Amino acid sequence: MQNQTINANDVNTWHDTADVIILGYGIAGACAALEAKRAGADVLVVERASGGGGTSATSSGYFYLGGGTAVQKATGDEDDADNMFRFLATSTAAPDSDIVKRYCDGSVEHFDWLEAQGVPFERTAYREKTLSTLTTECLTSTGNEKVWPYRDIARPCPRGHRVAMAGDAAGGKAMEALLGQCASENIRTSCDSQAIALIVDAGRVVGVRVRQYDSIKDLKADKAVIIATGAFGNNPAMVAKYAPQMQGNTYPIGIPYNDGAGIELGISVGAATQAMQNVMPTASFYPPGQLLKGIVVNNRGKRFVAEDSYHGRTASFVMEQPEGKAWLILDAEIFAYPELEMFGHSLVDGWETVEQMEAGLKLPPGALQKTLTEYNRDAAAGEDRRFFKYKDWLKPLDKAPYAAFDISFQKSTYFFFTLGGLKVSARAEVLDANGTAIPGLLAAGACACTIPQDGKGYASGLSLGPASFFGRIAGQQAAQAARRD
Ligand SMILES: Cc1cc2nc3c(=O)[nH]c(=O)nc-3n(C[C@H](O)[C@H](O)[C@H](O)COP(=O)(O)OP(=O)(O)OC[C@H]3O[C@@H](n4cnc5c(N)ncnc54)[C@H](O)[C@@H]3O)c2cc1C
Repeated sequence: MQNQTINANDVNTWHDTADVIILGYGIAGACAALEAKRAGADVLVVERASGGGGTSATSSGYFYLGGGTAVQKATGDEDDADNMFRFLATSTAAPDSDIVKRYCDGSVEHFDWLEAQGVPFERTAYREKTLSTLTTECLTSTGNEKVWPYRDIARPCPRGHRVAMAGDAAGGKAMEALLGQCASENIRTSCDSQAIALIVDAGRVVGVRVRQYDSIKDLKADKAVIIATGAFGNNPAMVAKYAPQMQGNTYPIGIPYNDGAGIELGISVGAATQAMQNVMPTASFYPPGQLLKGIVVNNRGKRFVAEDSYHGRTASFVMEQPEGKAWLILDAEIFAYPELEMFGHSLVDGWETVEQMEAGLKLPPGALQKTLTEYNRDAAAGEDRRFFKYKDWLKPLDKAPYAAFDISFQKSTYFFFTLGGLKVSARAEVLDANGTAIPGLLAAGACACTIPQDGKGYASGLSLGPASFFGRIAGQQAAQAARRD
């Protein structure tokens, strides 16, 4: 149904009317609702579940923010908007510089805004390399800032701001605060309501048709509809169509309602999409951080990535290797088991010599020995001349016995969420194939493609950060439309 539109002339009864109708009550929808309401618009949020939260409420609670936030200042991590821009403009696959610039320029203000809504952040830093801290410490390096070539382009700086909540799913604390604000400002909601089609009038989006239990209702949006329905990883048909590489032993993470409905709604009125093939994959072999001192090789016995990369970047490269095969190679000095058992990296074996290891892994004769000879020579000199791994993670792998963990794509368990979505402007307008804004339609969050665009450039926090930031912009933009008329 989402790929058909309804003509406004065919609507018999408008069951409700608002200036701005927001589809989805995750972080993008909640931030849009707050800004639109505060700017004077009458707002109605349509949510398929029985309450707000979405995947945002189940997330780890990292926001990628910088440019000199209050936390960065308190922890002595010097940053500025230009530095942040240089990093994101380089690490984003196909950056729209207006989008990236707006995000970097507005990042400090956005941090202050989140705090003012009651989202708590400590003035502390966590300096270890990890997937997700389970403590309340805030500022963490969550991306590839120190990885070559990025560290030569922008001064490395931690920008992952974690919500102050111990344990996993700190995103729930952020959503508790934001949804609490929405409730206290009497933002109207229609829960258990699934958006199933957009209603159009002479090329303008003027409403939405929803299914509520066993009835169908038509809702009129006098000024704008904002789509904020999240990603599409839980729609197997869409994943097979757009990201067919994510089959077999791969699992989407996120709530079941992240089924791409909003993307299909946008497409139904002529929206263009972007980066639909790209995902953020992970099967992190760290923590513990010492494993980053190992090397990762493919079935040719060759390295293919700087091993100190963010786990999503490493996973993206693993997926591209011949037959998706890869091993983490360790020596006795740094040996440890990967802590996160859910990824299922299995220990292949231990060997007394590199030659035996090479034979045990069925690698071409001499290949791994050559790779390790070169790597060990460079590591001893404190410089990785092939992949420029950061010096902190360099050490010769020369203490027998040696060990290998199988981290192959399809053998280990890779989890993912999708990054592609509706093409949007820096004002959150949904664009058609010519780059023209579709009248009456805005989008934000994981259903829209802004800064996080592929796993190689992803950093933790690049979903909640832009989703909340551009959610706010969508709300402001929609309210402006309401004021203009
Ligand atoms: C385990 C996990 C940890 C994560 N940790 C982080 C992190 O620390 N930092 C980070 O930046 N990102 C993280 N992410 C990614 C991030 O959580 C999401 O990208 C982000 O929350 C998306 O926000 P959203 O508002 O776009 O979508 P959502 O929060 O998913 O909200 C979308 C809402 O739309 C509703 N909806 C869907 N279809 C319809 C429909 N047809 N009609 C009406 N309503 C509909 C849904 O029910 C949902 O409530 C994590 C993801 C997972 C799964």
